[in-house]
Amino acid sequence: MNAAKRLEIFRRFHEENPEPKTELAYSSAFELLIAVILSAQSTDVGVNKATAKLFPVANTPAAIHALGVEGLSEYIKTIGLFNSKAKNVIETCRLLVERHGGEVPQTREALEALPGVGRKTANVVLNTAFRQLTMAVDTHIFRVSNRTGIAPGKNVVEVEQKLMKFVPKEYLLDAHHWLILHGRYVCLARKPRCGSCRIEDLCEYKQKTSDD
Ligand code: SF4
Repeated sequence: MNAAKRLEIFRRFHEENPEPKTELAYSSAFELLIAVILSAQSTDVGVNKATAKLFPVANTPAAIHALGVEGLSEYIKTIGLFNSKAKNVIETCRLLVERHGGEVPQTREALEALPGVGRKTANVVLNTAFRQLTMAVDTHIFRVSNRTGIAPGKNVVEVEQKLMKFVPKEYLLDAHHWLILHGRYVCLARKPRCGSCRIEDLCEYKQKTSDD
């Protein structure tokens, strides 16, 4: 795909949705970090339902740590893999208090040292909470980047590197949200809705559908 096409794709994404946001509910960097850890292999809607009860009761590392694994599990037991997520969150909270004065660190290294925090989660927090130029590649972004030709790659790291290189600089900060939303609602995994896709004329996917 050439640079002019990429520029036009992101210009249209921006035109349609000038301030894209994550669909996870949060009101601080810490809440976002916890929500993203909980969201692995789960839906944002499911996570939001759980955190809507949890955060009013405990929304600091010390307060969630004080709940303990069992106490926290009561709030998140509707979420997949809640047992291991509860353990990771409690340990993460302990480390945030011990190593970071109860604050969420703003570097990749420090974030990835926390249990339950991998490269993708670190990228989401750095980008969404701290507005750093990072690119978290999830299953939606991986699919959209490959299908369209915006940033084809064999694995998530390759796609991440290509997006960082090829997305026009003025759109880089918000590209993550646009691509996720596009994958979640338009460029669906099984049946992409090419018939109602705003970038259909620019997309280089060979097997477009007429679905809308
Ligand atoms: S045209 Fe189809 S394959 Fe291409 S981005 Fe749109 S929905 Fe996805």
